[in-house]
Amino acid sequence: MKVLLTGSAGFVGSHLTERLLEEGHRVIGVDNYISGQRRNTELFSGHANFSFMEADVSRGIPAFADQPAGKLDWVLHFASPASPPHYQQNQIETLMVGAQGTQNALELARSQGASFMLASTSEVYGDPHVHPQPESYWGHVNPNGLRSCYDEAKRYAEAITFAYQRTYGLDTRVIRIFNTYGPRMRADDGRVVTNLVHQALRGEALTVYGDGSQTRSFQYVSDLVEGVVRLMDVSSPGSDLHGPVNLGNPDEYSVLEFATVIRELLGERLRIEFHPLPQDDPMQRRPDITRARALLSWEPGVPLREGLRRMINDLQAGPGLRDQVRGNHIAAGAD
Ligand code: NAD
Ligand code: UDP
Repeated sequence: MKVLLTGSAGFVGSHLTERLLEEGHRVIGVDNYISGQRRNTELFSGHANFSFMEADVSRGIPAFADQPAGKLDWVLHFASPASPPHYQQNQIETLMVGAQGTQNALELARSQGASFMLASTSEVYGDPHVHPQPESYWGHVNPNGLRSCYDEAKRYAEAITFAYQRTYGLDTRVIRIFNTYGPRMRADDGRVVTNLVHQALRGEALTVYGDGSQTRSFQYVSDLVEGVVRLMDVSSPGSDLHGPVNLGNPDEYSVLEFATVIRELLGERLRIEFHPLPQDDPMQRRPDITRARALLSWEPGVPLREGLRRMINDLQAGPGLRDQVRGNHIAAGAD
């Protein structure tokens, strides 16, 4: 298949590119590097089935404007800053890529007769009052707070995706991704997994926001990619393929418990430092994955400690960090 993937230079985008290339598909990556990394493009630059366009999808995907229909089988729209520090530093760009960027990607799919997938997020549930969160829950979102540029952009992105499906009969899929981690996240990404892993590797105090009682459910990236690929493949007659699908690991940890796991893996003596809780920080988050289980026969297979070990091993293998991590070893605990 020929797949156009926006956000290909990002953390998730790079893993998805790798998997699609492994399966023999052609991948056309598009990214403007607002939160991605050039080295994620360079990973595939020699691959015969990979090509790349540096472009802001909010402004359009120009190379395809006059291409004949049928050139693409899929448009996967994964472009968007995703970490709270990144999207809060780029609020307007985040709104634009969720709004205009999504419409441009939908138009491309429509003109090509391609199927379309939107990478939505558990943030559409906001600070949820229903726990765990099923896809049927409408959410509890502050429409103008610090997180609104991301949450509302993704909610709009879902709305316009469904509008294209209803209006034009476009073949669409929507995934709601819950906190995902793994190799190739930017060191300055700012999310809790990267912050704490890098702090621990440097022997610094672990920053816990608030009292650490808020919860998250952490999914290793290969589990997410498996879910994406299954959703692209599924064609069960009669099943509702267009409805949103939660993809996340239901194992729930408080942030303080998560810090404890990091200490167990990287050093019991690491200090924990408490910082103020950011505005509108969701207090609990855990996916109800009943729908993904039924539709895709999918569930996450990588437990937290195992995923963290893989991520840490990858960082330690990198040339830049080796010197900084002297003396810190991954504990050989069992999951
Ligand atoms: P990321 O920041 O690593 O990757 C996003 C990529 O999109 C980056 O390479 C960035 O440069 C690119 N991008 C952003 N705006 C663009 C634009 N206008 N034009 C072209 N490229 C643009 O983030 P990620 O964690 O890999 O997230 C990927 C997708 O998955 C995002 O849509 C995000 O909302 C969604 N998601 C991720 C998570 C997670 O935990 N990682 C959770 C929920 C949803
Ligand atoms: N967090 C933390 N320390 C950090 C970074 C984040 O305690 O250094 C908390 C954050 O306040 C939130 C949780 O960890 O409660 C997950 O944050 P992240 O930014 O990873 O993703 P979110 O799910 O909030 O989008």
